[in-house]
Amino acid sequence: MVALFFLSTFALFAPSLALTYYMDTSCNPYPAVGRALPEALTMARRSNARLGANDPDIQVAFQRIFNTGTDNGAAVAEVRRIMGGIADMTETNDRESSGVRIYCNEDRWSLQKDRERTNKLIKKNSSRNPGDQIWIDTTNNIPYAGPPGCKVQDRIGQVFHWPRLPLQASHSTMSLCKPWIEDRIATIKEQGKRDFSRLRLTGAGLSQLLSFIVLHELTHVPPFRTKDVHPAYEWNNVVSKSTADAIRNAENYAFFGLLAVLGDANYKLEHTKPEQNWSGLLIHTPTIWPRQLFNNVRSIS
Ligand SMILES: [Zn+2]
Repeated sequence: MVALFFLSTFALFAPSLALTYYMDTSCNPYPAVGRALPEALTMARRSNARLGANDPDIQVAFQRIFNTGTDNGAAVAEVRRIMGGIADMTETNDRESSGVRIYCNEDRWSLQKDRERTNKLIKKNSSRNPGDQIWIDTTNNIPYAGPPGCKVQDRIGQVFHWPRLPLQASHSTMSLCKPWIEDRIATIKEQGKRDFSRLRLTGAGLSQLLSFIVLHELTHVPPFRTKDVHPAYEWNNVVSKSTADAIRNAENYAFFGLLAVLGDANYKLEHTKPEQNWSGLLIHTPTIWPRQLFNNVRSIS
């Protein structure tokens, strides 16, 4: 019985390993989303490829971001599982069959209707504190406790899925919030020939790019399931984590993906001066490593 269960579970989930994403029409007014998504996938693809190629610059980035060397097979395997899975994602126009459904507003949510109470101690949904009220995504059948996604001021994005039930977890949704989706420079590619040397990752600039934000959110999606491990954001916190926390924290993957793509544009982390170790200083590197990998990469400039 147990064996049969595992077999049938595997059969059910094996085809869904290559995830598809669906872009809701609510994102149509925000073309920046359509530009950021491919770059987020490129960040994941380049992370995976460079990790698989004994690339010395990405080994430095890995050491800094995941607080362990690329000789840590388990850590490398987990990062490659997540980045490889994101890299393999493809777009579909069919919401029903899609694995990840991307939204640019919260119109799909309704407060759960009050039920006939069998236990008088349980408050009606409509009279609870806002943080305890149950919302239902009526389009995708996903519940959430508290104001979802962009209904919370200053939230950048959020991923929703059923927390435990494996069958229901086969799809998830992502909310992307204003002002981050409004038309602006959304990708590294759109920065043209900008000189990134002497820039520090401790600054907010590159981690506010929409492609960076989308990669962060994609790593939360099942089956990747990263968390926001407090304090989750900003370079200083990312590089201060233990390996166990770094490997679970979404923002660490976003920075790693960022460095993988910056490498294609001839930028890497300064790492020869110990005093610069944690500063996230970017320097220009004349050689791209290894060259043969870059034949199929679109030019960033
Ligand atoms: Zn997050």
